[in-house]
Amino acid sequence: MNIPFLKFDKMHNDVHSQLYQAFDDVIKSHWFVMGKKLSQFEDEYASFSTTKFCIGVANGLDALILSLKALGIHDGDEVIVPSNTYIASWLAVSAVGATPIPVEPNINTYNINPSLIEAKITSRTKAIMPVHLYGQACEMDEIISIAKKHNLFVVEDNAQSQGAMCKNKITGSFGNINATSFYPGKNLGALGDAGGITTNEEQLFEKVKLLRNYGSKEKYYNLEKGMNSRLDELQAALLSVKLPKLIEWNSERNKIAEKYTEQLQNIGDVKLPQLAKNCTSVFHLYVIRTLKRNELQEHLNKLGIGTLIHYPVPPHLQNAFQELNYKKGDFPIAETIAETALSIPIYPGLTDEEIIYITNSIKKFY
Ligand SMILES: *Cc1c(COP(=O)(O)O)cnc(C)c1O
Repeated sequence: MNIPFLKFDKMHNDVHSQLYQAFDDVIKSHWFVMGKKLSQFEDEYASFSTTKFCIGVANGLDALILSLKALGIHDGDEVIVPSNTYIASWLAVSAVGATPIPVEPNINTYNINPSLIEAKITSRTKAIMPVHLYGQACEMDEIISIAKKHNLFVVEDNAQSQGAMCKNKITGSFGNINATSFYPGKNLGALGDAGGITTNEEQLFEKVKLLRNYGSKEKYYNLEKGMNSRLDELQAALLSVKLPKLIEWNSERNKIAEKYTEQLQNIGDVKLPQLAKNCTSVFHLYVIRTLKRNELQEHLNKLGIGTLIHYPVPPHLQNAFQELNYKKGDFPIAETIAETALSIPIYPGLTDEEIIYITNSIKKFY
């Protein structure tokens, strides 16, 4: 059997003719940037997120950078980030001149451990950036109350968890301003790069609208030194087609995760992902851990099963962050995850037969 790590077939078949229709609409409209398709998608995604506002931008990294800029975070400031996130969260902080301050995750949920945050807060700390990693919502009650107590902003990195809940409230609606990515492989993916920002604060909404479009409201009059980070009409139209299917696709991912969790109990030293109390996951990824990770990956590869490692090198050990002078051993939980994590296939359309083939192949290895 040949099972790639990710397949779009089922999702794209579900909406095939609507995607072509959207393309046709855009080409016939003769309007490709900052038009009706964008504002329509922004309204729809704001409504999905239960926030007052959504601003479409070029990608998830820009969404994070623009969110931090809108809050006025700059040189000399500090932002609390998880030690085990995708590097984009850290890059956004350094892009505005601030310093990422890592906090270790809970080894079972893989999400930032709220009880370790306060020890890292200093007079320079301006914000906490929880990352809902692999699809699971962070423990937002704890994070929001720490932020309130210390007068800090919260910026959610919601790139991997569109639709996840914490105490029945959706991710992307907790922070002052929140970023997401519609990179093709995310749960809601465009057919190219795309990103979005959600907020309930009108002032931040207005600021980001300026910043994503050259700092301009009226063409050729520039109020701020903005960037060009617009979500184009075609990607917005395609996202509008896919958004109504997201809940169904997420629940299909959940069913696959349940089957994995059922089949993979007590196999060798395999650790399965766990959910924090009151938090749900949309299973962007299903990440298991084992000390024999590389050998297991090799074994599955030989049997035709695609897997990936999220992520092989934690941000503090990346060349890109040399200037922070971290060394191996500084964030042992992030390092353990990097050494032991393996993501197995999970996507709408993965069949029961394929799930059993994958879990049997893992059992065979042990
Ligand atoms: C994908 C991702 C991003 C960045 O999104 P892009 O659209 O690729 O720029 C940021 N944070 C996390 C956690 C991500 O997974």
